Amino acid sequence: MKKVLVLEDEDSIRSFVVINLRRAGFEPVEAVCGMEALDRLREDPEIRVALLDVMLPDIDGFEVCRRIRAEGSSIGIIMLSAKGQEMDKITGLVSGADDYVTKPFSTAELTARIDALYRRTGEEPAPRREDELRQGPFVLNPRTRVLEKDGKRIKLTQIEYALMLLFMKNRGKPLSREELLSQIWGKEYIGEDKVVDVNIRRLRVKLEEDSASPEYLHTIWGYGYQWDT
Ligand code: CA
Repeated sequence: MKKVLVLEDEDSIRSFVVINLRRAGFEPVEAVCGMEALDRLREDPEIRVALLDVMLPDIDGFEVCRRIRAEGSSIGIIMLSAKGQEMDKITGLVSGADDYVTKPFSTAELTARIDALYRRTGEEPAPRREDELRQGPFVLNPRTRVLEKDGKRIKLTQIEYALMLLFMKNRGKPLSREELLSQIWGKEYIGEDKVVDVNIRRLRVKLEEDSASPEYLHTIWGYGYQWDT
C-alpha cells in the first residue's frame, strides 16, 4: 500500500483529499496539526510522501517540512499552498519540499504529482559498485544515493539526488528546463518550470562555495543548466 500523509486542518479539504487518494489506490494517514504530522511520520516509516498544508493551528507547514528534513528524512514532500501566494511556493521549496500544489487543485493533478514522487522515491535496482560517479571533488554513489564533496557527505532530498545523477551522467552537456522537468518530475507533470530553478538554487547552496557565482552548476541563459567539473 502506498501510504501518504495528509496534513490539513480544514476538515472539508482533508476529507476531500483522503477520499480521492483512497479512490486512486493510496492509503492516506491523516493529521490535523503539525506536531501530529511529525508523530505520524516518526511512527510509520512506510509513509513515503507527505502533503503539507501551510496555515495550521500550531507550527506552520514550512516548519513541519524543515523538521522532517532536519531529522534526515528524504520522503517526498508536496506543499499545499493557497492561490496567489507566490512566496509560499518558494519558501516551501527552500524549506526542503519537492513540489507544491496550489489550492484549489484537481484530484487528477494531485494524484499525478504524488505518483511522480512515489516513483522517484521508489526502490531502484541496486547498481554495482563500479557505477559510482567520480567527478572533480564529487562522488555520487547510486547504490546508497549518497553524494560526497571532498569526502564530506552532502545531504540531498530525493529530487536533488535525481537532479545530481542526471547532471553527472550528462557532464558538459546543456540540459533544458523542459528536459529536466520531464526527466525528474515526469512527462505528465503539469506544474511550472520554476520548480526546476528553485531546486537548482537550493542545490547550488549545498554544492558551491559561492552559489551566486557557481563553479559547477552553470546557468545557460534562456535554456537551462549545465554541469561541469
Ligand atoms: Ca489550513
